[in-house]
Amino acid sequence: MAGRPTDPIPSLDFGRQWAVLREPMAAALEQVGSSGWYVLGTEVEAFESALAEDWGLPYCVGVGNGMDAIEIGLRCLGLEPGDRVLTTPLSAFATTLAILRAGGIPVFVDVDPSGQIDLGQCARVLAADPSIRTMVPVHLWGHAFDLDRLEALVTEHGLRVVEDCAQAVGARWRGRPVGTVGQVAATSFYPTKNLGAMGDGGALLTADPQLADRARALRHYGQTATYVHDLAGLNSRLDELQAAFLSRVLLPRLHGFTARRRAIAERYTQGLETPRLRPAPPPAGSDSVWHLYPVLVADDLRDSLRAHLQAHGIGSGVHYPVLIPDQKAMETCPQAQAVQPLTTARHVVGSELSLPIHPFLTDDEVDRVVAACLEWRP
Ligand SMILES: *Cc1c(COP(=O)(O)O)cnc(C)c1O
Repeated sequence: MAGRPTDPIPSLDFGRQWAVLREPMAAALEQVGSSGWYVLGTEVEAFESALAEDWGLPYCVGVGNGMDAIEIGLRCLGLEPGDRVLTTPLSAFATTLAILRAGGIPVFVDVDPSGQIDLGQCARVLAADPSIRTMVPVHLWGHAFDLDRLEALVTEHGLRVVEDCAQAVGARWRGRPVGTVGQVAATSFYPTKNLGAMGDGGALLTADPQLADRARALRHYGQTATYVHDLAGLNSRLDELQAAFLSRVLLPRLHGFTARRRAIAERYTQGLETPRLRPAPPPAGSDSVWHLYPVLVADDLRDSLRAHLQAHGIGSGVHYPVLIPDQKAMETCPQAQAVQPLTTARHVVGSELSLPIHPFLTDDEVDRVVAACLEWRP
């Protein structure tokens, strides 16, 4: 697994993960296969309990994916068609798509220099427009945004909040887990996420038992008892196999994986002392889980660095190359609006590059990435 000094360094390396996890994964497959029960069963229940316990929230409802977790969360909070929802323009498109699918109209607020939604601007919008009382903020790149400020907004304005924690499972703000200020935490088990399964999956977590019941109904055609449909729900169930992979194999290793991501991030941060690129600064109170390691590249030179790394066999990513409101699909929602020119988000879109980071990356590989960055001469 060590790798030769010339081997490519991809952004992600599922082959290595499989080499390490194949035996427990195969055992989980055998368990589910022989049980004869494949969707919404005891494996899902066991995983929901384990994740709730690990997260520090009482209820967890497994669903089909992270996007559905956000949509179901909004519907559980009583979002009505046409309600406006504050959110960030810098995220996976799924964040906004979930708002649209729940009938909401996104209102985009700029980000701060750490890439997180600008809560100061949110405060101004909420004070100026009492008709906006719902928010889907995102803990981007594995950082936690300022939960104390979010809590102040929730208290002052009675906000309904789904925190999008798809990139930030395990992250904390000054000791407090992400997802514990909003009424709903939504997360994803898409393979690339920090708690990534071998297929699609997602979950909502909450402290509210009625909300959890409603989510359980919504994920299963709105069924409140067998063949009784009180709600017009979705089909968004978590399957037993993904739940077994998650609870038997991946969740027990998550803290170790996160520790490794943190060590890698620390090594990058120490090594990357160069004026032409700088690590995007995490928010001051964030105990991050480093879903990505984003750097900001000066003077429109991102593509130059990307090509240089590629020439050294080093993969990289861009999160994200286009702002959500600029995507063509947004033409279907002409009522969507941006509060401000989104200047900082546009700067990030033009300058961000994500370096390889995953639990199976070695120190030597991190050092090779750092060396390649330092020797880059645009
Ligand atoms: C991945 C992701 C989602 C969507 O999750 P899926 O499981 O792919 O539907 C939503 N929000 C953010 C921030 C994400 O990174």
